Amino acid sequence: MITTTTASKLLHKQQLRVFSSSIRKQTTDANGNRTARQIINVNNNQYVIPNKPVVGICLDGSGLQYHAAAIDAGLMPFWKEKFSAMVSGVFPSFTNPNNAAMITGTLPKDNGICGNFFLNDEGQEVMMNGDHLWNKTIFEVASQETTCLTVTSKNKLQSILAKNLQEPSFGVSVEKLYSCAEERKKLEDHIKCNLSDLPVPKDIPHIYDVQCAIYTLQLGTAILEKGLQDGHFLPMLNFFSTTDYMQHKYGPETDVAKDFYRQVDEVCAKLDSLGVDVVLTADHGMSDKTRYDGSPKVVYLQKILDEHQIPSAVILPITDPYVVHHGALGGFATIYLEDEKDFEKACNLLRPIPGVYTVLGAQDAAEAFDLPIERIGDLVVFGTCDTCLGVNEEYHDLTHVQTGLRSHGGIEEAEVPMLLSFEPSQAYQQMLTRGNGRSFYIFNILCNGKDPTLEHLCPYQYKRSKWQYIGGRV
Ligand SMILES: [Zn+2]
Repeated sequence: MITTTTASKLLHKQQLRVFSSSIRKQTTDANGNRTARQIINVNNNQYVIPNKPVVGICLDGSGLQYHAAAIDAGLMPFWKEKFSAMVSGVFPSFTNPNNAAMITGTLPKDNGICGNFFLNDEGQEVMMNGDHLWNKTIFEVASQETTCLTVTSKNKLQSILAKNLQEPSFGVSVEKLYSCAEERKKLEDHIKCNLSDLPVPKDIPHIYDVQCAIYTLQLGTAILEKGLQDGHFLPMLNFFSTTDYMQHKYGPETDVAKDFYRQVDEVCAKLDSLGVDVVLTADHGMSDKTRYDGSPKVVYLQKILDEHQIPSAVILPITDPYVVHHGALGGFATIYLEDEKDFEKACNLLRPIPGVYTVLGAQDAAEAFDLPIERIGDLVVFGTCDTCLGVNEEYHDLTHVQTGLRSHGGIEEAEVPMLLSFEPSQAYQQMLTRGNGRSFYIFNILCNGKDPTLEHLCPYQYKRSKWQYIGGRV
């Protein structure tokens, strides 16, 4: 481990970031027409509070290939006919950074979440949770005025998603429900209904069960449906965020994957039939990180740095409790150098290694990839699309990925599909079809993207090119 004094010397101090969040009632729209809309401002983004339930879905690890395979097999009849586009996620292409971006509507450089781990001022690896989020979540602000519900498969996301939710809004973690009777009781009290009376499978799936992600969607949908029926708790702003266990373990062409997407389609069709608008996207895609024989393809960064006497600490921000998923191997790593004089040496050593896509200094990486400079060490390393970055052989337990490693974190996995259950207004359509969509616009699109009078709230404003009439004039 890197020494305390050196770590604090090299760590960049947190810069002051200022965000405004507020709630206001708007009585006129952009054209001066009278409306009774309530608008919330969260981290300088505006959202119109929906007057009927809307659902944002982050389908963990859901790369385009999965959707394409299931749609081609005729298993996604609902989504096949709907508006869709490819959008860009945030870097690194991991779960927490992208979930944090979606629920705050901001980039990692603004919300601080750039992985699962970073090195703190004391030189210790610290897991990033809700306490490390620098700005507010949409639900935190919206729950002061309306009802919100977050349902996540992974417990690690719960503290970020449900941070500062105001009653009666609440967050559910399926992983916690599975293991904790008290948690199940709490949920039942909240919705005034036994779990066994909801139209969900009787047994809650374990986090390492393909059905865990599906259950997450089914549970959220069932709570919503019940609210629509009896009005006890009707969440207006919903976020369902799943786990990527299936995507880590099964490729797009497998029967397991296709059946998974058939079920996703079924739940979304159900939501649509309840009159609920849905936007579905992913936190990241998923790629094979293997050699031709199927064994994991890994570059062990710490081992290489140690062999060349460069005192340093390699942090893998993908590291989390779910080692069966990926063995703590992903396409992104940060390096904290004990002596900054080793900067050039480390760059020159690592850059030519096959499997390393690029090595950047913290400043360049922060600017190019919108990362929080305080939490990325001195060097940022991206792997190529088929290679993972590791510490050294001893650090990783590869038992569960010996016969196939599928993971994410790099450039390749940052482009993801986004599907809308409704036709977006023109400005939003232009943004999405011209490749300017971002997955963290998900709630902007859900709240503002359908109503043509709200086009001024679109994050991207299309400008006509002055060249477009060339050749057309006479
Ligand atoms: Zn993920």
